[in-house]
Amino acid sequence: MSAVVARIAQAAAGETPQYSVTYDPQSAHADVRLCLSGAHPQMVFAADSPGAMRFLGGLQRSSARRIEPLRAGWRARGWQAGECLAYSADIGAIAMLHSDAGSRYGEVLVTDPQYWLLRADTQTQLGANLRIELPEGWAIAAPWHELGRAGRSIQFQIPDTPPDWSARVALGQFEEQRIELPQGSSVRVAILFDADAKQRAKLMTWIQGAASAVFKTYGRMPIDDVSVSIVSIGSTSYAGRFFALLHPTAVFGGDSARGQGNSIQLLVDPRRPLAEFVSDWTAIHELSHLMHPYLGDRGSWLAEGLATYYQNVLRARTGIFTPAQAWQHLGDGFADAAATKSDDTLEQAANSMEQTHAFQRVYWSGAAYWLSVDSDLRRSSGGDLNLETALSRFHDCCLPAYHEWKPENFVAKLDELMGVRTFSTHYREFAQATRFPDWQKIFADLGVVRSGGDKTTFDENVPGVAIRNAITAAR
Ligand SMILES: [Zn+2]
Repeated sequence: MSAVVARIAQAAAGETPQYSVTYDPQSAHADVRLCLSGAHPQMVFAADSPGAMRFLGGLQRSSARRIEPLRAGWRARGWQAGECLAYSADIGAIAMLHSDAGSRYGEVLVTDPQYWLLRADTQTQLGANLRIELPEGWAIAAPWHELGRAGRSIQFQIPDTPPDWSARVALGQFEEQRIELPQGSSVRVAILFDADAKQRAKLMTWIQGAASAVFKTYGRMPIDDVSVSIVSIGSTSYAGRFFALLHPTAVFGGDSARGQGNSIQLLVDPRRPLAEFVSDWTAIHELSHLMHPYLGDRGSWLAEGLATYYQNVLRARTGIFTPAQAWQHLGDGFADAAATKSDDTLEQAANSMEQTHAFQRVYWSGAAYWLSVDSDLRRSSGGDLNLETALSRFHDCCLPAYHEWKPENFVAKLDELMGVRTFSTHYREFAQATRFPDWQKIFADLGVVRSGGDKTTFDENVPGVAIRNAITAAR
């Protein structure tokens, strides 16, 4: 068969799998039915991993034909048009793993749906559709796109993302609220614990503020429909609760997942005052990650740098910080990170960050990259262009991105969209550098003066004053 014919045959074989799910809270099991319209000589249904197979049972084809286990999934020969595969998934047991695969917060179960939705090998980049039937009073928070609701049945479209990207779906008796933003953007917020009305209002105010800050970057949300889940430290392990007692704070952490769509999870102590939530960096940091595609380990310095840069300048733009406070935070971060020692290039450090914990160097070198690129764009265009222009154009061409981008392709795309070489030129310099970037030079050019290391003042007599002001000016 010629390559062209083979491609056509493959495209014809591709289709959109239809999942129907019914969840039973008593047994914490889901009954899943996976149907395909086409006939296939053989079908492979991939499990997340060999270990994930034990959570699925009672597999049965609607044709009553045989299905055989493989190392990480099942094979069905002689698949008929319109045939379905039915099985039962032990969601409760997955949630008890307390890992990326699943967690339990009180009565709410958070699991990676890739553990319980077998992946048909005929699925294409069009993804899959799923209809779930929930018990009375139950809710689901998922990264999927909601297509419609009828009674207790919800219809979703599931984006096709690489199977090794982790995803999160919460099932429980909670309420998902929607924050509507202009231009059709929205953020769905699920508070996954028993918050009282006051706490609920406080958390919504916090997320609304963080979403508006990110929205203002270029007048749209980077992703139209993102799912944010808020977990209370009080509903985690004893160790978590004990830690919270020793280190009282509003926000303990956050992370973003990109599997099957975009989702963000935030870990909080809901009893802390609103002011502490508002001034915290975590929510703006995680929402800023939506502005870039997944860049892999090697590109993590670009990703974390962008979120670290914006967590500071956006807090100034929305008035949470004064400009002096924002530059103070940036300077403190640069100074601390510059004091860390390593012989690795920044790219090597980023690649091995999870093992070496070189987080400071990676995050703050990246922040210095975006600050220097932003400054250069503004300088060379007389203030007409900036980083927001570039990211806004990237949004229009390339988001949401359901596949990994190589970091050099991402910066090359930004250059192409702007008709410049700034992004790639700085990228090569930064990625190969074994020393922390010369942030003091960047600060000097912008007239940011750190006297005695802990006090930030401004020099109004350098050409970069207008650029500095524009970066932190209120929006
Ligand atoms: Zn981050």
